[in-house]
Amino acid sequence: MEKLLDVLLLGRLHFHELNLTGRVLMSQLPLNLTMLLVCAIVAVADPRKFRDPSFLAAQALAVGLFALCAVIPWRRLPYGAFLVIPFLDFIPVSLVRSSASDALSGLGLLAVFPVLWVAGSGYRARLMVLLGGVASLVMVWEPLFAAGTLDLRLLVGQLVTPIMMLAVGIGASVMTVSGMTQQSRVEELLDRSETREHLLDTVLETVDVGVIVLDAQGKGMFANSKQIEVYAAAMPADGVTADRESEMLIYREGSEAPLPPEQWALERALAGEEVERELYRLGAGPAARTVSVTVRGFVDAAGERAGTVVASSDVTDVVAAVRARDRFLSIMSHEFRTPIANIMGYAEMVQDDPLLSPTSRADLEVISRNAQHVNQMVDDILEAASGRDSTEIRLPLDLAELVREAGGSSSAEAKRRGIRLSVETDGALPILGDRTGLVRILDNLVSNALKYSGSGTEIALRASRDGEWAVCAVEDHGMGIASEDLDRIFTRFGRSASVIGTGIPGTGLGLALAREVAEKHGGTIECTSEVGVGSTFTVRLPLRGE
Ligand code: ADP
Repeated sequence: MEKLLDVLLLGRLHFHELNLTGRVLMSQLPLNLTMLLVCAIVAVADPRKFRDPSFLAAQALAVGLFALCAVIPWRRLPYGAFLVIPFLDFIPVSLVRSSASDALSGLGLLAVFPVLWVAGSGYRARLMVLLGGVASLVMVWEPLFAAGTLDLRLLVGQLVTPIMMLAVGIGASVMTVSGMTQQSRVEELLDRSETREHLLDTVLETVDVGVIVLDAQGKGMFANSKQIEVYAAAMPADGVTADRESEMLIYREGSEAPLPPEQWALERALAGEEVERELYRLGAGPAARTVSVTVRGFVDAAGERAGTVVASSDVTDVVAAVRARDRFLSIMSHEFRTPIANIMGYAEMVQDDPLLSPTSRADLEVISRNAQHVNQMVDDILEAASGRDSTEIRLPLDLAELVREAGGSSSAEAKRRGIRLSVETDGALPILGDRTGLVRILDNLVSNALKYSGSGTEIALRASRDGEWAVCAVEDHGMGIASEDLDRIFTRFGRSASVIGTGIPGTGLGLALAREVAEKHGGTIECTSEVGVGSTFTVRLPLRGE
């Protein structure tokens, strides 16, 4: 009863939240309350009616029907069975109308309660509206039939109430059906969004990537178990509490000083910066993990920023493999190539000796050929290693050091060609890059400079800093390149017109590959040149932020 009253007084509880008996009682209640009101009015207007058996029967029936609503276990009956009550309601309404109409006007309008109930129940809407109209018609015609007054004018005169009831029924049913359709749509949408949520949860728990989602204020909304597992490595040994979060061990890959929180990818992303596959080391010692972090913001339905998603993939093993590969390739290209170049150079020199016996000359040719073969193999391995995927992982490097190494590994070849090779570097130039690809660019530029310069000239290798760029320049005083060829030499198989007839070996692939690698690093490669004076190739790569 308390619940019914709450619904009636538009309290916290709503009609659809009641159980079936509650809803049935609630639908019957307005008629009973109005019947009581009718009693009160009759008591004033015409108390004699309380002695009229029809009037009393109507009141008793109304109370009886209310009691039925309360005691019948509607849930156990087929759905819609409760609609018997509003149709039965027409009996007391009809009785009260015929017995008290002379004292009170408009009693036929009491039929509005059962009509609203049947039409608003949403059960077989069209049929119920029709039946409501028919019941109203029966209610107004029945007394005429009973009295035997079948005058057409009297019958037609009674049609206003049934027509009004039909209109009320149609209105109620239209609103109910539309409300029900809306509700089922909302339920469907809710179902769908729940399914999507389950799907998302499953995906997030299945993928091997740590994911954390923050709301627009930067408060954590969600973290998958991989995220918790990966970031466990960053916890100090004695654990971390919310107010000591800043003590988490997060380093930039390649650095030993823990990053202050404002430089964490997460904090920078919250400040509106874009973060794309940056490498961080979590924790110290052998248990440390290296993660590649990408951060993206997302917007709500209105297009406002709603939060941030941070994805961290554990690339510890990949980074270790890349490091091992780089070490191996570095040994290949420097420790291997220099002695091979020496073998080839000296073999050639000895071959020039006129006193050499034919057998020794033939032996030297074998030495020379095999050395060239090994040299070619090293080239092929380096070429293969600077393939597409190797630039995906960028490790901290020093461009100045790479330039010094390139100078060192070409010095024997320069000496052989009678060219002076100088190397100038000015402090460290920290960058993030693919070592193999960058070594390849530098080796290619230096070997071109040597190839296309005459003996007695000079080649300068310089590494310097220019604003946010690490710059490396290779300057020669060789044959130079005509201005119309400057674009072509960076395309695949592009060679300048002047070298094509010279017999200087080359494929025209080196500079195309160099440009591709430089651009993948967010950098550029350019050339300025003058025919007969010399060329300068300049590589610019973004300096790594401290
Ligand atoms: P390759 O040297 O194998 O032909 P590259 O792609 O390295 O291929 O160079 C493309 C072309 O650019 C060369 O064929 C040459 O015409 C020109 N070139 C490159 N470097 C120089 C240089 N230092 N001096 C003159 N010409 C050069």
